Amino acid sequence: MRVMKFGGTSVASAARIRVVAEIVREAATTGPVLVVISAMSGVTNLLRDGVQAAVEGGDTDLCLTRFSELHRSTAAELFPGNEALLEAELQSLGKDLAQYLQGVKLLEECPPGVMASLYSLGEKASSLLLAKFLGAHLLNAADFIRTNRGFLFAAPEWNATDKAFEKFKENPPPLSVMPGFFGADADGRITILGRGGSDYSAAIAAWALNADLLEIWTDVNGIYSADPRLVPEAFTLPEVSFEEAMELSYFGAKVLHPQTIQPAREKDIPVRVRNTFAPLLSGTLVHGNAHPSPYGARGLTFLGGVSLIDVSGSGMTGVPGVAARIFQAMAAANISVILITQGSSECSISFSVAEAEVRKAMEALQSTFVAELAAGMLDPIQQRNGHAILSIVGDGMKHRLGVAGTFFGALAAVGVNIVAIAQGSSERNISVVIREGDEARALRQVHAAFFRSLPQLQLVVWGKGNVGFKLLRAIAIHQANPRRKVELKLCAVGNSRQFAFDAEGLKDWEALAADTAEPANLDALLRSVANARFTNPVFVDCTSNDGVAEAYPSLMEAGLHVVTANKKANTASFATYRALRHASETLRRKFLYETNVGAGLPVIETLRNLLRGGDRVLRFDGTLSGSLSFLLGLLDDGVPFSESVRIAKEKGFTEPDPRDDLSGLDVARKLLILAREMGAELELADISVAGVLPNDFAASGSVESFMARLQELDGGFAERMARLKMEGRVLRHVASIQALENGFQCSVRLESVGPEHPLYTVKGGENALAFLTEHYQPTPLVVRGYGAGGEVTAAGVLADILKIASFEGLS
Ligand code: ADP
Ligand code: ASP
Ligand code: MG
Repeated sequence: MRVMKFGGTSVASAARIRVVAEIVREAATTGPVLVVISAMSGVTNLLRDGVQAAVEGGDTDLCLTRFSELHRSTAAELFPGNEALLEAELQSLGKDLAQYLQGVKLLEECPPGVMASLYSLGEKASSLLLAKFLGAHLLNAADFIRTNRGFLFAAPEWNATDKAFEKFKENPPPLSVMPGFFGADADGRITILGRGGSDYSAAIAAWALNADLLEIWTDVNGIYSADPRLVPEAFTLPEVSFEEAMELSYFGAKVLHPQTIQPAREKDIPVRVRNTFAPLLSGTLVHGNAHPSPYGARGLTFLGGVSLIDVSGSGMTGVPGVAARIFQAMAAANISVILITQGSSECSISFSVAEAEVRKAMEALQSTFVAELAAGMLDPIQQRNGHAILSIVGDGMKHRLGVAGTFFGALAAVGVNIVAIAQGSSERNISVVIREGDEARALRQVHAAFFRSLPQLQLVVWGKGNVGFKLLRAIAIHQANPRRKVELKLCAVGNSRQFAFDAEGLKDWEALAADTAEPANLDALLRSVANARFTNPVFVDCTSNDGVAEAYPSLMEAGLHVVTANKKANTASFATYRALRHASETLRRKFLYETNVGAGLPVIETLRNLLRGGDRVLRFDGTLSGSLSFLLGLLDDGVPFSESVRIAKEKGFTEPDPRDDLSGLDVARKLLILAREMGAELELADISVAGVLPNDFAASGSVESFMARLQELDGGFAERMARLKMEGRVLRHVASIQALENGFQCSVRLESVGPEHPLYTVKGGENALAFLTEHYQPTPLVVRGYGAGGEVTAAGVLADILKIASFEGLS
């Protein structure tokens, strides 16, 4: 069984009723349907205004003629050739209306019971038209929706209602129509479920019928992130939890009557909010398994016409029961309290009620606390009108830091003063009371602060070693920053042994980093990426693996940009180097590798800027190894060579096998990358490489035996250092590029340098890169700083990732 509710605008004219009929007939092909409808658009207000006119002894003809005209002309259009089909029924409704209005006129007031009956005429008329047009069975809501006696805000009598639907439920006709908004009490007198109550009628019917779906058809695409009339940037929410929908409607999202969700939630009936004007859209699904919003907040709402009441005084501190007496008084007077705040000093309680009820509330309080007020234990009770409540709602706000900060910050940014604050302990709602009139700019600013949809890059991080791990953490930190300009969605993490992929974003990267993922390879990645339809995927290589570097062209072909900390691709053969750039250009995929030289230092970018500006490098000298810079610094200080290597290794400043650093090969790779950047068509073998160890030193064997043998070098180094000290010079591992007439000459070697040399003071793990250029001479341009370590490298990789967003015009 499906229950479908159509609102006033959905049945505003004959043409609209035809559209509704089409939607309903289509739905009825899959099973029985109960249609619940509102009065035609504007009719309920017309009736309200008619009553107002009658009370004031004014003209009620306008109301009468409009009511009759509208329904008659609609009938004429719906039933051409048979215009008088509903004449008798419509006339009877018109007569009822005339009599009620006449009675009100005489009484000069409208008793709630009369008001309810009068209001019901709108739905009675519209349902008549639709039922006839559909040839559907018409239910009298008074026989089914059973309520208590609160005429205008009646509450359902659930048992009686359940019983009333029993027979119908046993054998429902394929298509039936029931007017919304009203029901009847135990004596059969008409009652109303509150303005907008047809939603509730439909929900009550769905509950009683154990429907498998409740559809609320309205004039917007679903539930929005905010009222689309007030916030043009608001967007449709694909799904919302029952609890969120309850909070949103309670705090003013008019799209649903505040009570609608509760019966649906009780029986776990999914509710779909859809647009009659765009029936192809799927709208918003309210259900029990909604994923929390990625923004934390799901939506924001605004409730105007609110008064604040302040109860304060010395007599409240430490006296139990004051709050209970306040709210008992409100309950006894049948006043709904919207929001409560209490100062922690306990000497004041503020709460808000609808402005229409504030007088009643004040009277109830005055009489409850008459003794305390007289004795001065309570200050005179204050009422402040003209306020509004702004709320943010979302299951995802729970345990999330910074939500309130973003909310209050946004209000402060547009100069909106917060009068009171309340947060439910479910952390699903934060509400503030503001002055009425401030809401338009407050809503838009808060909406922008929470939901500005950011451009997104989808990241695949390959390698979970030191750099990879630090990068994953840096990405998480970036994502937690409310001022971020780009959304970094981590969609895959992998290495040669493991691979985890989720196109919607991996949930728990820490667990993944701890090796829980499925084994896989780059082919599996390419298949997953192809299916995911990413907008801006980026492959981030944090390995030092040749095989991964070789895959860059196929990754680019699959649409991925490549950011790499891995030097292997850029130091492979020149033919490979060139082919990779060709792929990047033709496929329009970025290839960024700033961390290949100097880790986080801005080296490649600086060099490119020089060249782009027309400068030419004459000579380059650099300390490109953090490990050697540290080690040679120790020698300066008189530490024996073997001891220096041991300390550097122990501090983690060298590779596990220090020979990888001491050989100078890693430095040569970096130098090759720089030289190629300058235009050199060189191979690694073209670089003359000398390491730190003398050529005749036997450097083979295990790490332990190698380390043990290093003492043999201590004497030689000590002697050399002593000599240099006398000359005022130091030992540096220098990587140089000399521009020649027709090319470049590159070397890597241990050099003794004097104070005039740009690398003289560079030690302790620092890198320095001195570019002597046509514009920068005789003093070279120097980039200097720590050039190794997971943290700075990860930061450099992250900077490259973010650069892609700006290259792509995303940020
Ligand atoms: P119906 O007549 O179909 O019951 P309503 O006028 O009662 O329609 O409710 C729909 C209106 O609710 C929309 O036109 C919209 O302006 C307003 N509205 C307020 N808040 C929201 C929201 N968060 N999402 C969607 N609509 C909202
Ligand atoms: N017609 C009623 C109203 O305007 C009920 C409804 O439309 O839901 O309040
Ligand atoms: Mg409504």
